[in-house]
Amino acid sequence: MIIDTHCHLNDEIFDNDREIIIKRFEEDNIQSAFVVGTNLETCKSAMELATKYQNLYAIVGMYPEYANEYDDEFEKYLESILSNPKVVAVGEIGLDFHTEGFNQQQQEEIFARQIKLAHKFGLPLSIHTREAFDRTLAVLKENKQYLHGGSIHCFSGSPEIAKEFIKLGFKLGFGGVCTFKNAKKTVDTLKAIDVKDILLETDAPYLAPVPHRGERNEPKYTNLVLDKIAEIKEIDKTVLEQSILNNTKTTFERCKM
Ligand SMILES: [Zn+2]
Repeated sequence: MIIDTHCHLNDEIFDNDREIIIKRFEEDNIQSAFVVGTNLETCKSAMELATKYQNLYAIVGMYPEYANEYDDEFEKYLESILSNPKVVAVGEIGLDFHTEGFNQQQQEEIFARQIKLAHKFGLPLSIHTREAFDRTLAVLKENKQYLHGGSIHCFSGSPEIAKEFIKLGFKLGFGGVCTFKNAKKTVDTLKAIDVKDILLETDAPYLAPVPHRGERNEPKYTNLVLDKIAEIKEIDKTVLEQSILNNTKTTFERCKM
């Protein structure tokens, strides 16, 4: 069975068939999925889903592009939910220098604050990093004593950068991108790293794997990603599946199913 360690099933694009998707998990070989919040509103909807469904968990935090929404009210809310057993990590937090007008200082400040908050509860992180590998690594190193591992979500870096994150205790999340034709770097990285450092995720509704590229992504498509990684690493699929499941449970200790 597979655990989708990063998806946005709380997105309104799933409003019409969310329940059907979740009820079908078992026959789709999905054990559970982690629903990710990115601001106050989506953290609340992630919590609602995780509370309602046994096979869903929540990851909660403020996304770097929403850094200016991080205020006392949000921090208080975060603190109030982080001891909930259905919260498996703090995220998605990190740095994103892609969009014009980004505020680096503000992003780094709330990233560090949320790392420390996660530490108070002994929680791992789900990290978003775009065009910001150097600074992401720098902030993590500055806060090394507060780290409890986690996932570098939708990892797209080189084998060298992968190893830097692994050294800090993180695993790397892979999804649909590794099935894309132009994903040479991701394939090289997958070849270079150990199976024990790999996690599966969709980032649904985004980044659906081939042959569904461009369509709405769903947790069940992680099966296609598993096939692809087994092919890249020349490992038996069943063995790989079990290893990745073990990785997931040791990384996200509150995940019981
Ligand atoms: Zn995401």
